[in-house]
Amino acid sequence: MSAPRTAFDIAIIGGGLMGCSTAHFIKQLAPDATVAVIEPDPTYEFASTPRASGGCRVQFTCPENIELSRDSIAFIGAFQANMGVDGDAPDIGWVEGGYLFIVPPEQVAALAANVKLQNAKGGVVHLLTPQELKAKFPSMNTSDLGAGAHSPHDGWCDPHALLWGFRRKAASQGVTFIQARVTGIDVDRVQVKALQLDDGSRITATAFVNAAGAWSGQVAAMAGMHLPIAPMKRYEHYFTPATPMERLPYVKDLARLAFRSEGQGFSGGLVDGSFQRGFDFEVDHSYFERVVWPAAAHRFPPLEAARCHRTWAGLYEECELDGNAVIGRWNSGRANFHVIAGFSGHGMMHAPAAGRGLAELLVKGAYQTLDLTRLGYERIERNEPYRETGIL
Ligand SMILES: Cc1cc2nc3c(=O)[nH]c(=O)nc-3n(C[C@H](O)[C@H](O)[C@H](O)COP(=O)(O)OP(=O)(O)OC[C@H]3O[C@@H](n4cnc5c(N)ncnc54)[C@H](O)[C@@H]3O)c2cc1C
Repeated sequence: MSAPRTAFDIAIIGGGLMGCSTAHFIKQLAPDATVAVIEPDPTYEFASTPRASGGCRVQFTCPENIELSRDSIAFIGAFQANMGVDGDAPDIGWVEGGYLFIVPPEQVAALAANVKLQNAKGGVVHLLTPQELKAKFPSMNTSDLGAGAHSPHDGWCDPHALLWGFRRKAASQGVTFIQARVTGIDVDRVQVKALQLDDGSRITATAFVNAAGAWSGQVAAMAGMHLPIAPMKRYEHYFTPATPMERLPYVKDLARLAFRSEGQGFSGGLVDGSFQRGFDFEVDHSYFERVVWPAAAHRFPPLEAARCHRTWAGLYEECELDGNAVIGRWNSGRANFHVIAGFSGHGMMHAPAAGRGLAELLVKGAYQTLDLTRLGYERIERNEPYRETGIL
């Protein structure tokens, strides 16, 4: 038996959705490239991807985020047709259920401006009056609303199936998956030389990618890079109404209440951005009753009698500078080290187009389809936030 390969063109740290998407697109662009994905846990027990809610929407305000969503949603919609392996077409459960952003009267002008931008970028988003909202969603309390923005071609999918669809495809393209954890990174003054793994082995490569999600700040530190991405706990709940209600799109408001139809009930939560950072998966079972339920019942009075069946906790890989992803090369430092992390709650929906973008940078030396330069590491170095101004 020959010894396992330890030298690659590209080594990717983290085999979650970002790592697998990047690996797939690298092989698409450069079939002969040797690519390793280093992932310690093939069950993905604590990874963010399988714990995600699955939402995909074009409703953003940074043009790059709108474009990443637009291209990723098209890719996700065609996933089953295009990403099969050996005749096995992966069903990722895509539901074109739509998104609905709702705002109070004083925010209508801002929402209208966002809708205009999203439509100009190829999205399909309709501005609805409270009367139109009520006609479409009869259970909704619209008395304190100024408007809603409905994007009917947005939706959600099964994040776990999407991850495995990418992983299986990448493996079929010849990507090597190494089951190990990166515990150290060998560097010289201008580049990363090798990865030390917890099984005692060492992986060398020409280029390296940090796709370690909520752990990416730790991984960056091993290479001497300051990357302000931290783990932030977020709860997801599955709850049902006492009496049947109409199916809902993914409804989001300014207080970060966000939920959508799932089966006979709803899946979602209310993000609290002030949660203490850390690798914490403990569930506070009173959170639904204290925080989520009053907000949901105010908006949809039939949810006064809602019942929460399950709550789980997952980690946002929160970019502390501005809540946006960091994608690109460490140009001013060890320039063969790259990052694709910090998506702060929208990584599942951006993974296809973000992975494609980073693959272009790695293989072609420059972005080819979407210009993601403004999401690069330079803004972190300059301490210049590039924020979403819409609903997060
Ligand atoms: C409750 C919840 C709901 C969400 N809902 C949505 C949503 O509706 N829509 C959306 O777009 N996004 C959503 N997200 C965000 C989304 O899940 C993430 O942005 C996305 O999954 C990040 O993917 P990733 O590959 O970067 O991270 P992960 O899936 O966490 O993968 C990172 C991998 O790196 C590995 N790793 C860590 N350290 C090392 C190391 N030292 N060496 C090697 N490997 C390592 C880990 O084992 C892990 O598998 C949600 C997140 C949560 C928690």
